[in-house]
Amino acid sequence: MKGVILIFKNLAEMSQPLIKKVEGVYKKLYNYKRKIRIGIFAVLSIFSIFFSFAATDVCLAYNVDMGGQIIATVKDKAQFENAVCMVEKKTAVSLEKSVDDVKYVATIVRYDVIDNDAAVADAIINSTEDIVKAQSLYIDGMEYTRVSDLDVEKYLEEYKKGFLLEGIENNVYYSEQISVKEDYFAADSVDDKALFEQIVKDNLHVVNVCCVSENYTIPFNTVTNKTSKQLVGYSKVETAGVAGAGVKKISNTYINGGLVSSEIIEDTVVTAPVNKVVTVGTGRRTASAAEKSYAQSSGFIFPLPNGSWKVSAYWGDGRGHKGLDLAANYGVSIFAVKGGTVTYSGWKNGYGYFVEIDHGDGLKTRYGHASKLCVSAGETVSQGSVIALVGSTGNSTGNHLHFEVVKNGANYNPGPYVGLS
Ligand SMILES: [Zn+2]
Repeated sequence: MKGVILIFKNLAEMSQPLIKKVEGVYKKLYNYKRKIRIGIFAVLSIFSIFFSFAATDVCLAYNVDMGGQIIATVKDKAQFENAVCMVEKKTAVSLEKSVDDVKYVATIVRYDVIDNDAAVADAIINSTEDIVKAQSLYIDGMEYTRVSDLDVEKYLEEYKKGFLLEGIENNVYYSEQISVKEDYFAADSVDDKALFEQIVKDNLHVVNVCCVSENYTIPFNTVTNKTSKQLVGYSKVETAGVAGAGVKKISNTYINGGLVSSEIIEDTVVTAPVNKVVTVGTGRRTASAAEKSYAQSSGFIFPLPNGSWKVSAYWGDGRGHKGLDLAANYGVSIFAVKGGTVTYSGWKNGYGYFVEIDHGDGLKTRYGHASKLCVSAGETVSQGSVIALVGSTGNSTGNHLHFEVVKNGANYNPGPYVGLS
């Protein structure tokens, strides 16, 4: 039995190197397996990255650095250069200096992060001060001005409102055809706001057509009925005149606030006027025998030059007229009808400029409404001397001489004294 154990022991000892060899082979095999595993893993990883790129649209692109700022992401340099050309062509501005120091930084991005050509152009425009976004004002198809930082349409709307008139219905419009276009321009080709405003003021015309109603009065006419039953100088209003009323609708046209035309488009009589009816006397008075006798003894001459006068109101014409009215031109000489002493020369209420002469024997003559006085109170005048000039002062409606004869303090009809009936 012991011999059997020995044999096994020897066998075990003898197989030790073999076991170690086997172990070594196994270890080597293990290391290869690991490397293979890592290799497979690496290959799979690359594949998976590749496939994931393809699956999520990721690609290589470039961030455009202009003056230290990333302004856009492009797929390649050519895209950016094309955009520069596009902007230069559109604005006529050279971007040579602006794009001089442009840097391209490679990056991996999703396809949809890459800017399209228009966005790249916008980014270039926004990064240079040489180009601005501005609005051009076209008047009748021609560009008159361009301005930045201003909503031109809104400005023109407000400018137009400046010509509205208060309290009436306005219809305002520009007489010119106007259009506004927005675009990018070279900064130095854009007008400042003050110049823009001046161009608007000088070239645009705001028309305002508005209707107004205007009330007006219609004057009445005077109808004169003559009657010989009343003496000359008689006048009576039979019907008072009443003015009528009308309404006019007027269309006014203003250009830049100035009235250029006014047209009556409707004229309505609201109430018609009522005529004034007046009866005037044409009758002549005949002197009584008694009047004729005292007149003949007076020795008066006529107070006005021959042919210069006309009776405009007789004595006692129905108004209680206490004299004789002789219409004559302004400035005609008034004579003293007889010599005497001037007892009054001056202003006297309704008589206006007035002269009174005392002829003695209780007889006085009076002269009213003169334009000028030629004598003074206390003065002695001879018959025919000029005492005043005809006028219309005091209570008078036209040039005339109001002539009175007073005897012992009472008025008498002057007509017969001067050869009139
Ligand atoms: Zn009179």
